[in-house]
Amino acid sequence: MGALSEILSTPLGVIEWFVYLLAAVMFVIGLHLMNSPKTARKGNLISAAGMVMACVMAFIVLFVGEIGNGFQHGVAVVLLIAGIAIGAIVGVWSAKKVKMTDMPQLVSVFNTVGGGAAALVALNDILNSSDTPTIVVLITAGLGIMIGSVTFTGSLVAAGKLQGIKFLRKLTLPAKGVWNIAFIALTVIAFVMLCVQPGNAVLWCILTTVFALAYGLVFVIPIGGADMPVVISVLNACTGTAVAMSGLAINNIALIVAGALVGAAGVTLSLAMSKAMNRPLMSVLAGGFGGASGAAADASGPEGTMKETTADDVAVQLVYADKVIFVPGFGLAQAQAQRELADLGELLKGHGVEIEYAIHPVAGRMPGHMNVLLAEANVPYEELVDLDDINPQFPTANVALVVGANDVTNPAARRPGTPVSGMPILDVDKAQNVVVMKRGRGKGYAGIENELYFEPNTQMLFGDAKAGLQAVIAAVKELIA
Ligand code: NDP
Repeated sequence: MGALSEILSTPLGVIEWFVYLLAAVMFVIGLHLMNSPKTARKGNLISAAGMVMACVMAFIVLFVGEIGNGFQHGVAVVLLIAGIAIGAIVGVWSAKKVKMTDMPQLVSVFNTVGGGAAALVALNDILNSSDTPTIVVLITAGLGIMIGSVTFTGSLVAAGKLQGIKFLRKLTLPAKGVWNIAFIALTVIAFVMLCVQPGNAVLWCILTTVFALAYGLVFVIPIGGADMPVVISVLNACTGTAVAMSGLAINNIALIVAGALVGAAGVTLSLAMSKAMNRPLMSVLAGGFGGASGAAADASGPEGTMKETTADDVAVQLVYADKVIFVPGFGLAQAQAQRELADLGELLKGHGVEIEYAIHPVAGRMPGHMNVLLAEANVPYEELVDLDDINPQFPTANVALVVGANDVTNPAARRPGTPVSGMPILDVDKAQNVVVMKRGRGKGYAGIENELYFEPNTQMLFGDAKAGLQAVIAAVKELIA
């Protein structure tokens, strides 16, 4: 795409510019509506409509526009139709088939595709240009290539780790700091050379791409445990920034605005996550904070026995309590037991028990996972209490009912040398009684044993969370009746 004056010199160019502008405005309105759960669905629809409009316009421009000779034009149209068809089929299939608990992996795959696409658009802009590219194009396209390539490989590894692929989760990188610094330096040098030596653009473009792809790998491979949520939001921010840079390079306002919105939202989320997780952003970017991997930390788990309990006994504790705090985690999402938990809450509230839900910022597998899950079950928003506000309340709770949460309750985070060290946790162990519902002795995402399970005030109710909650509900109903 050419300069703005060139685009606006034809009627089609003016229409194109206007449609992209309208699409960009719809993205902004859509994002604004996503501020509240009540309007989020509408916001999603408006943003999606904007994206459809932008795609249709891109198709029309390519279809009626003049691109190369007749053969090249035909190839471009066929490629575009094939791309739209494949994208639509995969998009609809994944929206229908992928489980809510697998959403984070899917988002990572989308980041991979987004970053890769942005890098390709920027690469094409430089490699296909007939004149020597201007310094503005070199800088913006170069940044698009660099950030897009890092996002491509980084998100691919992140998706594999979230999917639980053993090989990736156990993969370590000796001297990770050295590799990180080496590939950052090489990528930046190649990018600077691209800007100062446009005559050799092909060589520097290829080197920038290769080094950035390698940096994406060495950046994410050593990261695990409590650093992972921060890395995912950083990669999200990178996707947006790469798209915005590519949009600037090819003068496409829809790409610029969509990319800037995703980038800004991703940066805000990354800062919020690193603050909430007590992880300085720079140390995460430099290759991880926690250090010890889950596999390495396995060896030194806590010793002792776990005390088992029954649904009937848990029901007695809950019915005679004044205050109960529910602690949901990834297992609740895995079991899809949010409605049962909400029903139990309503039942106990009807009996005069005070109920609150403790929400850890990284419980589950994506930011806001527990909020979304519980909103789906119509749990009132005011009953969801953030970590800082709920922690002082645990000592006054008669029972803390932990449903499928593990790492976010692990007291091991309070001492150094574990994959969760430094991460703020829910102070569940300070409640008068703790009941943990989980299927068995499976570990959490960080791959370490939870010291909470061996505390004298903790009892384990083993089994799938959904079946377990149904049994507790039945027992509570019997007691109340
Ligand atoms: P964890 O992943 O630590 O633990 C979940 C627990 O749920 C497991 O120990 C498992 O034990 C249990 N479980 C699984 N399925 C069921 C089921 N059907 N019924 C009952 N229990 C079940 O979850 P947390 O929410 O405590 O912690 C989140 C972790 O994920 C943190 O380490 C965080 O850093 C990481 N993470 C978070 C992201 C985010 O953005 N939120 C993104 C990436 C990673 P068992 O097998 O015995 O049942």
